[in-house]
Amino acid sequence: MVSEKIMSNKNKKILVYSNGTPVSDETAELLMQKLTSSGYFPVTEFNGDEELIVCIGGDGGFLEAIHKFNFPHIPFIGINTGHLGFFQEIMPEQLDEFIFNYGQGKYILQPMSTVKGKILERNGKITKIKGLNDIVIRSADANTIHLNISIGGSFIERFSGDGIVVSTAAGSTAYNYSLGGAIVDPRLKMLQVTPIAPMNTTAYRAFTSSIMLPSKLPLTVVPDAELKLTKVAVDGRQTLLDDIERIDIGFSNTYVNLLRFESYDFWNKVKTKFL
Ligand code: NAP
Ligand code: MN
Repeated sequence: MVSEKIMSNKNKKILVYSNGTPVSDETAELLMQKLTSSGYFPVTEFNGDEELIVCIGGDGGFLEAIHKFNFPHIPFIGINTGHLGFFQEIMPEQLDEFIFNYGQGKYILQPMSTVKGKILERNGKITKIKGLNDIVIRSADANTIHLNISIGGSFIERFSGDGIVVSTAAGSTAYNYSLGGAIVDPRLKMLQVTPIAPMNTTAYRAFTSSIMLPSKLPLTVVPDAELKLTKVAVDGRQTLLDDIERIDIGFSNTYVNLLRFESYDFWNKVKTKFL
């Protein structure tokens, strides 16, 4: 199992990352003191040899850290000082409990799969992207976008509307959920494609529901040739492109490992954050 291999590499170096808000910085400082007195070596710069990364902030800060450190295999744990904190496991008042449980090995690892994409522009430029939540392809202005969508090499539809969200299981509770997509248990290896304002008239036809894809089935998106500007957003980080030839999207085996307390249960978390 991946998780055992990861956690056997212990050297007591722990990276403490803060999203920079005053309360996060205060929590970071306090945590570093507590870690030091418990025999750990807290650091603030990523080096890649840490046994754990503690990320203080909200989900946004967590996503920021994942991207900044380029999806490391090192386990992450989040302390929630943000708004929703779906990825986050601890509250700032639980620092002692966390250090104790961590030292005792009282945790589980939750592996979260990712989504990868390859953008090919007409000038030959290739950009590789990766996300923990989602890859969004949408119109950059207020106009309709037309996207030719193929699944596993077969042409499926010419989508017309605002765009599509390709979401991982981890991202299913983010933008995907706001669009009426399904909440997916992260133990499932799949991607969900959810339409944003799909048009259904005698002029245009598109799926109105989400579709679920197994991990080995690639998705190809070819924007209509006359299209001017397309927005591609990965976990909320957007780029505007005016000359896309094709975007290939697929399930990625790069896993982000979240440290969770033994009491963690995905559906219980969903209940507390959404109901
Ligand atoms: P943001 O616009 O500041 O936050 C969007 C909200 O989504 C925040 O409340 C954030 O939690 C929450 N969130 C992020 N990932 C989540 C997840 N996996 N499950 C449940 N909630 C989650 O941007 P951000 O914080 O950097 O997050 C980027 C994400 O925003 C994108 O990946 C996209 O999924 C989402 N988004 C949503 C909409 C929408 O719902 N209409 C529109 C655009 C983008 P925190 O408060 O803890 O940060
Ligand atoms: Mn946010």
